[in-house]
Amino acid sequence: MKLSEILTQDKLSLSFEVFPPKTDTAFESVKHATEEIAKLCPSFMSVTYGAGGGTSKYTLDIAKNIKANYGVPTLAHLTCVSSTKQTVREKIEAMRDAGIENVMALRGDLTPELMASDRSQWDYRHAIDLVLELKSCRADFCVGGACYPEIHPESATQKDDIKYLKEKVDAGCDFLTTQMFFDNNLLYNFLYKIREAGITVPIIPGIMPITNGNQIDRAIKLSGSFVPQRFKSIVDKFGSSPDAMKQAGIAYATDQIIDLFANGIKNVHVYSMNKPDVAQAIQNNLSDILG
Ligand code: FAD
Repeated sequence: MKLSEILTQDKLSLSFEVFPPKTDTAFESVKHATEEIAKLCPSFMSVTYGAGGGTSKYTLDIAKNIKANYGVPTLAHLTCVSSTKQTVREKIEAMRDAGIENVMALRGDLTPELMASDRSQWDYRHAIDLVLELKSCRADFCVGGACYPEIHPESATQKDDIKYLKEKVDAGCDFLTTQMFFDNNLLYNFLYKIREAGITVPIIPGIMPITNGNQIDRAIKLSGSFVPQRFKSIVDKFGSSPDAMKQAGIAYATDQIIDLFANGIKNVHVYSMNKPDVAQAIQNNLSDILG
């Protein structure tokens, strides 16, 4: 099922993100975790491509398994930075052959080595190049793109960021998923600005439940997200007590999601990080709200 159909439904729903294993030996345990999450029947599951510590090797296998054996619609991520056209086209063919209908078109992060290399030689320099590739191939993919309520770290201004985002959407993004954020007002402000810029596709807010004290530093380093004092106090108070931090982190994420639903958002994407217990706890907290 295409996400464009799911996202225009009138009911509230949650989707979950998983990432592929870092090593071959971890494959079975990651597969098991993704299956446990699939059993929760989310509106869809996304499978990252080389992000969150996983490799890109198993993205397709995991997405295929979830879709075929659990009937959960999947969104397979794909990055293009520094890849050749031939490699990307092979990946796209493989996705099409596997029956994948939804693809998240991403540039990928620039490592210091990539930053130092001659970018003029690259076949793909921005995610928009991949969006165009996906939209011009023989498969009729529903294509997603990333967006940044607190601006992408490489952008000089939010105005520039939104200008490029608009171009990416016009190239063929059917929906956008946001970077994590811990203050919903940042999202509402961003939504106002992008709607004003003429971006009308569905926006899926991405919520990251922080369930251990160490995770917050890593998450902020990766995303550059602002951490409100209310959440800092929670981490200061409970960060060194694993069970308490997990409970508080799940409660904070639940609170963010309830506020989003109350303010007109229909689908929230949870960065569930291969943790079925966390995904389940959030879903249980929302059982009557989700209906
Ligand atoms: P782009 O849309 O290309 O934007 C990157 C920067 O370039 C921005 O500053 C933008 O304003 C600017 N820009 C865009 N177009 C132009 C242009 N034409 N000219 C000049 N500047 C331009 N990474 C992974 O490796 N694997 C994943 O699975 C993954 N999943 C993600 C999912 C989500 C929801 C998000 C938010 C991020 C994800 N990432 C993933 C990280 C992502 O790859 C990085 O954030 C990366 O730095 C930017 O990717 P992008 O697709 O947003 O790039």
